[in-house]
Amino acid sequence: MANDRVVIFDTTLRDGEQAPGFSLRPAEKLQLARQLDALGVDVIEAGFPIASPADADAVRCIATEIRRPVIACLARCHRADLERAAWSLQPAERGRLHTFIATSDLHLQAKLRISREQCLEAAVEAVRYARHHTFDVEFSAEDATRSDLDFLCRVVEAVIKAGASTVNLPDTVGYATPDEIRDFFRRIRERVPNADNVVLSAHCHDDLGLAVANSLAAVEAGVRQVECTVNGIGERAGNAALEEIVMALRVRSDRLPYAVNVDPRQIYASSEMLTRLTGQGVQVNKAIVGRNAFAHEAGIHQDGILKDRRTYEIMRAEDVGAPWNPLVLGKHSGRHAVQRRCSDLGLDLDGSELVEVYRALMAIADDRKIITDNDLIAVVSGVRTAQAPATEPIDPFDTPSAAAVQHALHESGYGHGV
Ligand code: MN
Repeated sequence: MANDRVVIFDTTLRDGEQAPGFSLRPAEKLQLARQLDALGVDVIEAGFPIASPADADAVRCIATEIRRPVIACLARCHRADLERAAWSLQPAERGRLHTFIATSDLHLQAKLRISREQCLEAAVEAVRYARHHTFDVEFSAEDATRSDLDFLCRVVEAVIKAGASTVNLPDTVGYATPDEIRDFFRRIRERVPNADNVVLSAHCHDDLGLAVANSLAAVEAGVRQVECTVNGIGERAGNAALEEIVMALRVRSDRLPYAVNVDPRQIYASSEMLTRLTGQGVQVNKAIVGRNAFAHEAGIHQDGILKDRRTYEIMRAEDVGAPWNPLVLGKHSGRHAVQRRCSDLGLDLDGSELVEVYRALMAIADDRKIITDNDLIAVVSGVRTAQAPATEPIDPFDTPSAAAVQHALHESGYGHGV
């Protein structure tokens, strides 16, 4: 395929922001939009203007200030939605109207209560109307992956004729599997005669944890835009995570030879800003941006990492702009890591000190879960106090005085609960 570049369409400020607990004020949205610009995304979906006056203002504000990326916003296939969206995008250097309607029989019958023919008409009319306002029109067939394929093909062909330049086929409820998605997009391209005149797009949700795998499968089937969010936030279990898609394409370019514009070194800063502004952290084991994504506690792994990072890391924290503090001390840690961390803290231990410090650390590790630098300093200090020449002879085989260690830990705050 000649064009191997994948457009990164970021919907953190729309799909992500509309998830429970993630709402942002307009000024916060603007701050994030600046960061998304620095990250290098191609399209920023800034909001759903008809949803609230504040959202319309936020989109307009972002469209005014952020000039490089395309600024998109969402509208149902209704005149009022489209007019509000067009007003919000009016100051944009490059604006995109994104209109959508559900195409699955379930949504048509149970939710919209309209026929397939009415759906098709509304879609075509909305795209035509949107084209009066802007050349860049995206159409989404909500619940596309659960829609009747013949009907969906008719809708796709019709909206392309009406002027849509991007056609997005979402897996709205995160139901599809990767093989199915690959098949789905291949069949769309085979059966819709004008499908290769537009950019096909995937928008995958993570209800079964397959959003990123499905997005990559879609790319393999010829999709050239993926819709995703920072930290994978979004409705319910979230959207495909931008950082995972970008790093999968980068780390596995041998299997996935597709280019993206994103600067991966801005990934961590983007994730951190989103976490700070929403007050919603990511799980510690989250791929790419979780606290443990580049951390190692097990002794065998720590030993490997100290000798050659490639033993247990397929990418570097620096590649995504994250700090690299890989050695987490806990009950699975080995002496190498303890010695290295002490030395990083300016505490050079001799052989017998290391033995005692290690023994004392293991004694507290179960309670502590993670041993902090303060704990380590306290333990070293306790061991050194216990080993200091005493007026009375001490038993060299005794463990460092438990009392001294406990005292030092108490001084460091240990015992005040975690
Ligand atoms: Mn969605």
